[in-house]
Amino acid sequence: MEARIGVLALQGDFQEHLASLARLGIAGREVKLPDDLVDLDGLILPGGESTTIGRLIHRFGLREPILEFARAGRPIWGTCAGMIVLAREVDPETRARTQHLLGLLDVVVRRNAFGPQIESFETELEIPAVGSEPVRAVFIRAPVVAELGPAVEPLARLPDGTVVAVRQDNLIGTAFHPELTGDDRFHAWFCRLARASIACALPERARRPAQ
Ligand code: GLN
Repeated sequence: MEARIGVLALQGDFQEHLASLARLGIAGREVKLPDDLVDLDGLILPGGESTTIGRLIHRFGLREPILEFARAGRPIWGTCAGMIVLAREVDPETRARTQHLLGLLDVVVRRNAFGPQIESFETELEIPAVGSEPVRAVFIRAPVVAELGPAVEPLARLPDGTVVAVRQDNLIGTAFHPELTGDDRFHAWFCRLARASIACALPERARRPAQ
């Protein structure tokens, strides 16, 4: 059975995530309302503008349902703004006045960490979790992970040691955008996590009729 993956489709580059999933043969579902989360095995929070995405999550009543989704052990992956929204805290110097966070990922992120003069760049990253070949990473007004809680594992670093991808159990955050490169290994890896979460799901999920 394929994992059923949703992409939060309130703002940002959700279409690019859906395109990446489609290349993997997965029909991702746009998530705009709480009911759209029903029966999903994994959720992607796209890049975009974290203040807007956070506000819309709040307005569309998605906050509690997403927290519940995470509590049920289902994987959630935030890319760039999505990682900010997942975070416990934003460094006060870069935090917007109204910045709704889900507070799931035990990290402090710094927004727009590469400064206005070099807002975008691309580089190759070693990410052993997704494969032995380096991954091309696109950073667009990207955040970095400034502090990691004890349960958070760094998945990728820049050459200076800055953490730009993390995992905390079923939660993944990347400061960059795998959906923009045409290299779908990160999405494939996330789908495998989502599939694995079906196998070790809570009892009520295990009782779902097989498809
Ligand atoms: N700078 C944006 C923010 O803080 C994130 C940019 C992105 O998602 N590419 O929300």
